[in-house]
Amino acid sequence: MKSDINVKVVKFGGSSLADAKQFEKVAAIIKSDKSRKFVIPSAPGKRFREDEKVTDLLYECYELAAANKDFAACFNKIKDRYNSIISGLSLDLSLDREYDIIEKSLGNSPERDYTASRGEYLNGIILSKYLGFAFVDAADVIYFGEDGQYDVEKTDKAIRDRLSEFEYAVVPGFYGRNADGNIKTFSRGGSDITGSIVSRAVDADLYENWTDVSGFLMADPRIVENPMVIETVTYSELRELSYMGATVLHEEAVFPVRIAGIPINIRNTNRPEDSGTMIVLRTPIEKMCEGITGIAGHKGFSVINIEKDMMNSQVGFALKVLAVLAKYNVSFEHIPSGIDTIGIVVSSSALNSHRHEIVDEIRKAVNPDNLYIEDGLALVAVVGQGMVRNIGTASRIISAVARADVNIRMMDQGTRENNIILSVEEADFEKTVRVIYDEFSV
Ligand code: ADP
Ligand code: ASP
Ligand code: MG
Repeated sequence: MKSDINVKVVKFGGSSLADAKQFEKVAAIIKSDKSRKFVIPSAPGKRFREDEKVTDLLYECYELAAANKDFAACFNKIKDRYNSIISGLSLDLSLDREYDIIEKSLGNSPERDYTASRGEYLNGIILSKYLGFAFVDAADVIYFGEDGQYDVEKTDKAIRDRLSEFEYAVVPGFYGRNADGNIKTFSRGGSDITGSIVSRAVDADLYENWTDVSGFLMADPRIVENPMVIETVTYSELRELSYMGATVLHEEAVFPVRIAGIPINIRNTNRPEDSGTMIVLRTPIEKMCEGITGIAGHKGFSVINIEKDMMNSQVGFALKVLAVLAKYNVSFEHIPSGIDTIGIVVSSSALNSHRHEIVDEIRKAVNPDNLYIEDGLALVAVVGQGMVRNIGTASRIISAVARADVNIRMMDQGTRENNIILSVEEADFEKTVRVIYDEFSV
């Protein structure tokens, strides 16, 4: 990290901006550090466990409108959420005109992405007013290309040009404009990506990502009680963990800042005194832990098992199988293999959309002796730079899992040696995460 920090981009997640009280905390954080110049808000999230996220309500309104049903009650809930934030902060602001525009669009020609994006758009207007910062609409600075990916060059230039006009500004997260000029959103949780894109474009010294936990935890807090906070994690470790289900940061948010070498700091809006997790290119030697960095995973995987005598001598066997999966747009997670067997681990939901066609076509393509699919698997990724050339990590994992009486169905260590992936029965998933955590957290 550079020693003198001049520019920070700060992204606040939905729970950080769920009501007026949370807005007050957010403003106090921003105002306590004058380098916090560019602010990326999410839409209001849940205020309590059973509450609804505004983004979910917007999708619900869209579904109703698209089906020609009455969306007024749904939309009123959204208006109430924003109006109570405005009144709770005693702001001299009315969003009535904005509500009208959104309601008209829903009534005339509802558009899914446009509707969903209004969550961050409206929250951005409120936050900019409350902070006294400029409001810069993400639709004017974030662009997607024909391929649906964000257009790096156009976006970088637009952000740089626009933000150079202001010392402080709010840019709503989650959306931009596509090649046709319409609003397009990132996938769910995508405000993290906006924060990363803006950080890179303004060449920020630090990207702070403020959420409701005191950093990246060693395991999912919904599975392990009170897990330890990871002090430092590398981009690549984080990428493995977030891809495998540690949802703190959107998995795509790593790329823009990694290229620019900008560190990310995960912080807790409700406990700003905690230093959180620092995400960096390389772990400093003194912080390199011997054990593991974190554990993540999720359920919902299937394995396509293929057996054929002399498979190992048939050049191109795997290629033919994978071509079938590619045809049906199914990507694979892992391919554990033996001499005459190959297993292809895929997401069950992706497989299920064309299950029968895929099986038939693999049969035709490679004429296997045996082909069968097993469902109901969970993957658990144990990630850590410290595993590299460190003897004993795998044996500790296997022994811990065996002691818990869990059968490991498959196991795979990546060539970079910074992760080990286990496949277990779904029913054993939580238990597996817990025993591995217990083994390495002492
Ligand atoms: P935000 O709304 O601020 O973007 P998210 O809900 O996207 O926040 O991400 C934070 C949540 O991620 C936490 O509340 C926690 O429940 C969940 N989570 C899952 N795995 C982890 C982990 N390994 N460390 C921290 N939080 C995790
Ligand atoms: N509001 C969007 C969502 O709920 C984006 C985000 O919060 O990052 O997915
Ligand atoms: Mg999030």
